[in-house]
Amino acid sequence: MPMPEVLVVGAGPVGLALSADLHSRGVDVEVVERRADAGGGTRAIGIHSPALALLEACGATDGIRAEAVKIARGEARADGRVIAEIRFDSLRARHPYVAALAQTDTMRVLSALAPPVRHGTTVEALHPDGDGVRAEVAGPDGRAVLRAGVVVVASGWAGRGLVYRPAAVRTLHYPDRYVMADVVASGGPVARVHLERDGVVESFPLPGGRRRLVAWAGSDEVADADGFLRDAVAARTGVDVDIAGASSFGVRRAVAPALRRGRIVVVGDAAHEVSPIGGQGMNLGLLDALTLSPLLAPWVRRGDDASLARWERDRLASARHAARLAFLNTLLGRAAGPAAHRMRTGTLRTLLRGPGGAAFTRAYAMRFDRAARGA
Ligand SMILES: Cc1cc2nc3c(=O)[nH]c(=O)nc-3n(C[C@H](O)[C@H](O)[C@H](O)COP(=O)(O)OP(=O)(O)OC[C@H]3O[C@@H](n4cnc5c(N)ncnc54)[C@H](O)[C@@H]3O)c2cc1C
Repeated sequence: MPMPEVLVVGAGPVGLALSADLHSRGVDVEVVERRADAGGGTRAIGIHSPALALLEACGATDGIRAEAVKIARGEARADGRVIAEIRFDSLRARHPYVAALAQTDTMRVLSALAPPVRHGTTVEALHPDGDGVRAEVAGPDGRAVLRAGVVVVASGWAGRGLVYRPAAVRTLHYPDRYVMADVVASGGPVARVHLERDGVVESFPLPGGRRRLVAWAGSDEVADADGFLRDAVAARTGVDVDIAGASSFGVRRAVAPALRRGRIVVVGDAAHEVSPIGGQGMNLGLLDALTLSPLLAPWVRRGDDASLARWERDRLASARHAARLAFLNTLLGRAAGPAAHRMRTGTLRTLLRGPGGAAFTRAYAMRFDRAARGA
């Protein structure tokens, strides 16, 4: 079998974005995915302006914009009142909004631009091999060895062991649990974060008159997720919504110490996980992939890897920054006693007026990510 220039491990959103972008640059890329078919549950729903700008090169931005709700404005609320407003439409950016759509739809748009994915194929081990990398794979036809000039691991946390030793990526497990569902609900194209005494409720618009609802649920597993979310939304926001299909999730934080080992590179959740509260994990991975892609062709063709050290430094700095912001969001979203809640609300109201509010908007829109320069 001819050796592809680049082998991408994993066809999640990050692996697909990388493959689509490499394909559009004429790089010979092969993508393997352990799942038997496309799909997977819906998780990430918000694509921020830097990723939208970088997705233009492979032609994905128009497809995403055509399907997404454009969120131009967000509100932080407490005790039934708006305490701060976020104006994404005031950003100096090519795409001054958050594009909200289900992760499955983002992946469908990217799949149409990427080369066909080899589904049902799991990479079990990677070995540096001269001017390339050998990948041991198990697929529908049994075991095989693939060889590529460069391997990019975009396997999510599940494939972290392909690159890092078990203790090399320190992972913090937060005690917090959340319940979420995507449901039919009114509310317009505005993102709302309700910072209430009993914990946060987030409400984000989705296409088709739906919203993503997420509620903080303490630290114990929730037995009746639908009932919990319905009651939490009603009690904390005063809105009654029918809930079906709710699920719960916990949060972890991990940032790998390095993204490169010889001709093996790591992007997305395989290298870093940030709390979904704040919604930046997939975006961080997209920015890893889309800033790496232009560097890969010169590397595999001419051995020119001069820009990779800087890429790695920038991406690690951006991941650490996003992890800190996500941690702050997680702290702010916890339940608080009456005095602590009053103090939290008052402090946020004061901080987010004027320049503080503009910085907050930029942080949420990932304008501080190093990949946002000029995007
Ligand atoms: C509830 C929730 C809500 C979220 N909301 C947001 C949001 O609004 N915005 C945001 O930016 N982020 C959000 N995130 C985070 C986001 O979902 C992840 O950051 C994103 O999915 C990471 O993409 P990835 O492609 O790196 O990894 P994954 O999505 O995990 O994809 C990796 C793929 O690799 C495959 N794979 C794994 N191992 C192998 C192997 N050995 N061989 C072959 N294939 C393999 C897997 O099957 C999978 O398909 C959310 C997460 C959660 C849990």
